[in-house]
Amino acid sequence: MSRHASDLNVLAATKFTANGPKPEPMDIERIFGENAFGLEEMKSRLAPATFASLLATIDKGEPINAAIADEVASAMKEWAVERGASHFTHWFQPLTGNTAEKHDSFITPNKGGGVVAKFSGKDLIQGEPDASSFPSGGLRATFEARGYTAWDPTSPAFIVENNNGCYLAIPTAFASWSGEALDAKTPVLRSMLAIDKQARRVLSLFGHDDVHKVTSTVGVEQEYFLIDEEYYYRRPDLMTSGRTLIGAKPPKGQELDDHYFGSIPDRVLSCMLDTEKELYRLGIPVKTRHNEVAPSQYEIAPIFENTNIACDHQQLLMITLQRFARKYGLVCLLHEKPFAGLNGSGKHNNWSIGTDTGMNLLEPGDNPHDNVQFLFFCTAVISAVYKHQDLLRVSVASAANDHRLGANEAPPAIISVFLGEQLEDVFNQIQKGSATESIQSGLMGLGTPVIPDLPRHAGDRNRTSPFAFTGNKFEFRAVGSSQSVSFCNVVLNTIVAEALDGMADALEAKMADGASREDAVAVVIRETVSAASPIIFGGDNYSDEWHQEAERRGLLNLRTTVEALETLISDKNIKLFEAYGVLSEPELRSREEIWTEQYFIKINTEAETTESMARTMVMPAATRYLKTLVDTIEQGNDVGISVKGVKEAATHVAAYVDELQDALSELIDANKDLGGDSVHEKAHHMLRNVIPAMGKVRHACDRLERITPAGEWPVPTYRDMLFVK
Ligand code: ADP
Ligand code: MG
Repeated sequence: MSRHASDLNVLAATKFTANGPKPEPMDIERIFGENAFGLEEMKSRLAPATFASLLATIDKGEPINAAIADEVASAMKEWAVERGASHFTHWFQPLTGNTAEKHDSFITPNKGGGVVAKFSGKDLIQGEPDASSFPSGGLRATFEARGYTAWDPTSPAFIVENNNGCYLAIPTAFASWSGEALDAKTPVLRSMLAIDKQARRVLSLFGHDDVHKVTSTVGVEQEYFLIDEEYYYRRPDLMTSGRTLIGAKPPKGQELDDHYFGSIPDRVLSCMLDTEKELYRLGIPVKTRHNEVAPSQYEIAPIFENTNIACDHQQLLMITLQRFARKYGLVCLLHEKPFAGLNGSGKHNNWSIGTDTGMNLLEPGDNPHDNVQFLFFCTAVISAVYKHQDLLRVSVASAANDHRLGANEAPPAIISVFLGEQLEDVFNQIQKGSATESIQSGLMGLGTPVIPDLPRHAGDRNRTSPFAFTGNKFEFRAVGSSQSVSFCNVVLNTIVAEALDGMADALEAKMADGASREDAVAVVIRETVSAASPIIFGGDNYSDEWHQEAERRGLLNLRTTVEALETLISDKNIKLFEAYGVLSEPELRSREEIWTEQYFIKINTEAETTESMARTMVMPAATRYLKTLVDTIEQGNDVGISVKGVKEAATHVAAYVDELQDALSELIDANKDLGGDSVHEKAHHMLRNVIPAMGKVRHACDRLERITPAGEWPVPTYRDMLFVK
């Protein structure tokens, strides 16, 4: 197999033709949501009383009335069967970070020896997948391994289509028989209740008794790469790890910024249009697409939704991107760092809080009263982030994301809050101001003469901050591209609920002591923001000065996943999650264990793949080349021509082969065992020994790639993968 990988270019790229028959024009309004069992569909298929009861669950969070389950199930089945579905699945999110499904058909035998399609309320409400192999982090022993799935009526069921048929997918929670959450969704739902309760408490102190429900909202910008599938299947590293473990940087990378926001290549655009059409049909409101910084890197972003639905849709979006890419001979890489030396991929988790009356609580208002309320909620967020920097860091921790955070392409591992010049100035004035003075001047007690009109879209956005206020929401930018956004939003909902709780207590106490509401609000905002002010930073988060400054301020800098995960189960965090009913101590501990386990498994897989590629692909290619050179030297000497240059080349190759062999020995040694029995020992072994050894092997391989004949190199190069579109 000495065919040069570049020979494939022609094959790969010409598989796509842009000249096929023109598709039907996309009628967005008609197709949007046609594959989701949404409110309109429910309303048209259910008796009014049934629909009202279901709506009370969806909108007001009332417990589901079991009596209506049969009717809902039957309507859902009819709708799905009309669309050609033969099977259904309880679709859930185990702690692997992926989604899981097990399909059952609707068939039930009838007396005549045939079958009818049936789906009961019981089938809808609860399932018992034999899911004993999902990680439980010690929450279950295998003898009681079964978990159960429970229907989440607040997230619409949907249809997954395939050329040969389709099935109904029902979003569900996944728990152990003893009721412990084994999934990503359950804590999201619990944290939604926590923020609802505390935000409404604050709102009623501000006189908004008309608000019946507060939800956090999320819109996620997703980055990804698309490369030709032929290259993907020729690279064991991409197949096992989703990233290249060896590969020299090409002469042309992203330096010219010529890809960013450039016109989208035809094949990619076709793929995007098809994917987006599918997303519309699933009821996912995608809005934006563009080329990203690295060659072959792109971004897609939907319009924000209720956090629970946004988290489900985000998982579905990643799955759909991957499925549809294959139709175009492409593979979608969601890994945080598929290519060394080029920008990796992340997601921006845009988060806000809204009321059922239409208020966005993180949007500056048009009048002083609304502005004070905005500042109150904004202060709660700042204070929550300050107190729980560790949790936000943990929520984005993974072996893959460690390659990005702090590598001058993504925010550092230090969590800080960017407010924008104007809002930062407002908070500075508030901290300096004295409540009594300002009350005298009748200025809402905030010590600032007027709160300036805050621009909804501040001009100079700081792109280096991990957590930035962007006009009417906060944008958490450290999330990894392949991660589920559930846990970071569980953290945001819970920590902000706690901050609101504490601020509401303080407000009530001050008012009980006789302070006016305006006065009390001013003091609470000032005290809270003053205590949290070290977290506010408006400068360049990529700079070395910031690292020093952050240390002076006492901010955490949890550089690696291993360091970050250790903080998850601190007393502070156990107390927090228990207090708001979001995660019990065993549930939290199980997550710490599972995520630590995932960390070492991922790195162990990479390390074994690196070892195998170096031994079975790179070393043979390099020694073949060395042999050719040595043969040439011998033959040149025989016939008496100068082989000075060949000798020099052979010396280089031999030296690099030595380097590779030394590095390999070290890696082989590190790979021999996992470094201990506990997940923590294993994780530390990966961090301390395996990762550095992999780095050395890669370095040697990449040097050899630069001097080995192109036609002899055993895997597609960066140039192939990144520039064939
Ligand atoms: P950019 O960050 O590039 O300026 P946008 O302002 O358009 O982009 O928004 C980025 C994301 O933020 C989108 O997914 C958008 O729906 C989401 N977003 C906007 N408003 C809110 C909100 N109130 N809550 C949560 N997400 C929001
Ligand atoms: Mg953004």
